[in-house]
Amino acid sequence: MEKVRGILIGRMQPVHNGHMEVIKQILSEVDEIIIGIGSAQLSHEIKDPFTAGERIVMMNQALADSGIDPSRYYIIPMQDINFNAIWAAHVKMLTPPFSIVYSGNPLVKQLFSEEGYEVRQPLLYDRLHLSGSEVRRRILNDENWEELVPKATQELLDEINGVERLKNLSVKEISDI
Ligand code: NAD
Repeated sequence: MEKVRGILIGRMQPVHNGHMEVIKQILSEVDEIIIGIGSAQLSHEIKDPFTAGERIVMMNQALADSGIDPSRYYIIPMQDINFNAIWAAHVKMLTPPFSIVYSGNPLVKQLFSEEGYEVRQPLLYDRLHLSGSEVRRRILNDENWEELVPKATQELLDEINGVERLKNLSVKEISDI
């Protein structure tokens, strides 16, 4: 029987518990999920501190730690392109075939629905706290960011000195003003 595949694209800067919850939800609705690591070309910026490769490690390990069957997901880095009108085709070119797009991002929803895809808006889990910007804010302010992310994200940040990187980037940007 044909497999039903869904796609979730996010910057995942960094991977947090909201991403993991939504992935589990999606996997209860489809056979396989494609996880797009968006803005793959960006790193070492205050809003986009981690490389695509680092984000792939966080996601891969977090999925393994969650006990999710590896045959049910694909993790694919995808660079941004300047042309919104052909972005959905760009994503399609990079991924296995899919029929359902999961996103809360208005632009992503618009672009894929114009191409005829079924678009579903997943439930948001504790959006006040579970967002990449809140995790980065807490890291910069020495607050408890660890409770917002899977163990795999903490381990990767330890491995690459991610906290120090983010703090160094914030100092640099302030001094550049
Ligand atoms: P994100 O990491 O903020 O969120 C990704 C998805 O994760 C969301 O749509 C949402 O469904 C889910 N999510 C996040 N927090 C959640 C929570 N607390 N609970 C449940 N679900 C949660 O990423 P984003 O900004 O939406 O990523 C879109 C990507 O697509 C970006 O990289 C953007 O650059 C790219 N994009 C590129 C183009 C182009 O190149 N022309 C056009 C459109 C989008």
